[in-house]
Amino acid sequence: MLRRSLLLAVIVFGSLSPALAQGEPTLAALIVDGQNNHRNWPNTTRMMKKYLEDTGLFRVDVATTAPRGTDPAFRPDFSKYQVVVSNYNGAPWPEETQQNFVKYVQNGGGLVVVHAANNAFGDWAEYNQMIGLGGWGGRNERSGPYVYLDAEGKLVRDESKGSGGHHGPQHPFAIIVRDGEHPVTKGMPREWLHVQDELYDLLRGPGENMQILATAYADKAKGGSGRHEPMIFTIEYGKGRVFHTPMGHGDDSQECVGFITTLVRGAEWAATGKVALPIPDDFPTADKTSQRPFGK
Ligand code: ZN
Repeated sequence: MLRRSLLLAVIVFGSLSPALAQGEPTLAALIVDGQNNHRNWPNTTRMMKKYLEDTGLFRVDVATTAPRGTDPAFRPDFSKYQVVVSNYNGAPWPEETQQNFVKYVQNGGGLVVVHAANNAFGDWAEYNQMIGLGGWGGRNERSGPYVYLDAEGKLVRDESKGSGGHHGPQHPFAIIVRDGEHPVTKGMPREWLHVQDELYDLLRGPGENMQILATAYADKAKGGSGRHEPMIFTIEYGKGRVFHTPMGHGDDSQECVGFITTLVRGAEWAATGKVALPIPDDFPTADKTSQRPFGK
């Protein structure tokens, strides 16, 4: 009898809890932005915020720095979030914010790195450990090897000298899933066509504790490196999970259903280690891109 009333209490209180009754978002995400050599960053923040919110899974805050220089007032409380999405490529954060950020990821916080966020903080060792690979920002052989896959799909860590980060003219390109068993890529077609984007190549960095889930061939005929470059990858940093995609240069690139799906599943994985969000019906195929006009 006691057991039954306990069970009843659980059911009643459970059903009254807003999270369960109304399907309210269960994960807290923070987008950081404010400085970026990509002037469309306010658009891409808006887009990514909506993509995350539209899943019903995420409640999303945005923390924006001052437009120039180190912003002493930029002190988000990262510990309130399960995942931080970086759309930031600018001046160093205040020392204390950097330390709090490292602590946050080390203690199990999730991080999602999108496109030019991997250009940021070339001199910040811990950040470069977290993101695995980066480009520009003074990166060179001292930052770590070039990491890519060869024609046989074998991982190459190339220590040769040279600057990190390059891309040819924008074009649509094929994403090749290399690990279809990871929660983020599970169920994706083995090959899908990404909407016009910058194909980042020659990224370099420590590349430690890193798993490459998908690559794109940076064709020399399209101004690329001639290598299979990491396009969807993960890094373990302390107890934290980091999800990294160099895709997402333009508003149009971020309208790609492949990008959207990769972003929201990557964020869910970074936050929880699992993925329940589905691959949508309008996902791109090997020969056809798929774009959802965002509307301004
Ligand atoms: Zn770009």
